[in-house]
Amino acid sequence: MQTDRGDILRKIPSVETVLESRGVTQLLGEYPRVLVVAVVRDVLEQERRAILERNLDTVSAPEEIASKVGDVLAAKTARSMRRIVNATGVVLHTNIGRALLSESAVEALTFAARYYTNLEYDVERGRRTTRQVHVDRLLRELTAAEAAHVVNNNAGAVLLVLNTLAQGREVIVSRGELVEIGGSFRLPEVMAKSGAVLVEVGTTNRTTIDDYEKAVSQDTALLLKVHKSNFKMVGFVSEVSLEELVDLGKNRGVPVVEDLGSGALVDFSLHGLPGEPLVSERIAAGADVVTFSGDKLLGGPQAGIIVGREGLLEQMRQNPLGRALRIDKLTVAALEATLLELLGTSDARERLPSLRMITDDEETVKLRAEALLQRVQALTDVLSLTLERTLSQIGGGALPEVGVPTWAIAVRSPVLGESSVERILREGEVPVLARVEKEAVYIDLRTVLPDEERIVEAALGRVALTARGGG
Ligand SMILES: *Cc1c(COP(=O)(O)O)cnc(C)c1O
Repeated sequence: MQTDRGDILRKIPSVETVLESRGVTQLLGEYPRVLVVAVVRDVLEQERRAILERNLDTVSAPEEIASKVGDVLAAKTARSMRRIVNATGVVLHTNIGRALLSESAVEALTFAARYYTNLEYDVERGRRTTRQVHVDRLLRELTAAEAAHVVNNNAGAVLLVLNTLAQGREVIVSRGELVEIGGSFRLPEVMAKSGAVLVEVGTTNRTTIDDYEKAVSQDTALLLKVHKSNFKMVGFVSEVSLEELVDLGKNRGVPVVEDLGSGALVDFSLHGLPGEPLVSERIAAGADVVTFSGDKLLGGPQAGIIVGREGLLEQMRQNPLGRALRIDKLTVAALEATLLELLGTSDARERLPSLRMITDDEETVKLRAEALLQRVQALTDVLSLTLERTLSQIGGGALPEVGVPTWAIAVRSPVLGESSVERILREGEVPVLARVEKEAVYIDLRTVLPDEERIVEAALGRVALTARGGG
């Protein structure tokens, strides 16, 4: 009845009363007053709605209201970014942050965060310099290029290269290389924004050097080659090699630019993996400019790296757009430390986590998986846990078609089904991300750090507990 509702609603305390209650006065010591007041209003509004919509006939006790206010305040002020355990086997997973940094890179970036540094200041001469100096020499030594310049990410690198060298002029690209890269990098769109005019040659599956040759004109600014990254064509295909393009470029006086995407600085074929193009090889083959990401196969922070001829790079340094694409100081610090590992240590593989994950052999992963399986034996009364040979993915557009052989723990539960298993693994304080495939959930330890195995065990424990409860 209407009057009853009104009576109950009148029992809801006022904002002032709640603010003066014991629990909430304490919260006022921990959180800004404006925030507490706003949350108290929200909580009281929820009370009112509960009474009207759910026909409640009592008002929550003051302690209950205070505790709700406390919970909401804690949730509002909690960090959104949290740790995730990557059991997907995708090493350079863009959605969860691509490469993990080396200890030295982590140390370098906290150092740069905590203190003033010689970021753009030449201490000896007592004057301004450029932040590029910290990585310039290292990149030249690692790639044998004449010059280097780093920006915020590789999409930015491509934008800067095209805008600097080809604004209002033509760039020739093969139709077979007009790809969209995960994270929605679409080359034709970036080209349009750069002011360059795209000239497509060849067909999706076949492009020959004649196609390029016929397209070259007075208006041609660049010949562009793009690493196809996350996509591979098989069958009746033909692609023009960088060497052929370099010859044509030399004959016609047109620079050749290659967007390598995941360009590698170390040779993965030494670890039995199909070789990804090495940046140094592309420079040696005559590319005038090469761009690649810092957080893909390089194993460092997000960055766009441009290497190549000094004359061309100098034009890029002068481009005002560079200021908008400028690399951040924390990134410079982390990138320098990563490059120092690659240049100066014989065991870079051991020290760069992503490189180690990519190159660990399948036996190493298998031993870890076997040991973990032993430790969770008790769960096999309700879960089927088996060791299976499958493939990890490098991700980030590298080696898309091959995968890396691995041994994963396949989790099956007739009671729960694979989508519930996958969800429960994700529901812990530290979510565990696994891969669903062929009606099982695969836990691939290749991408799990050793000290995270306990988190995986606990997550499997939660799955078993739910399964025992009948789902
Ligand atoms: C990944 C990739 C990009 C985009 O690089 P970001 O560093 O993510 O901006 C561009 N081109 C190619 C070929 C790529 O593989």
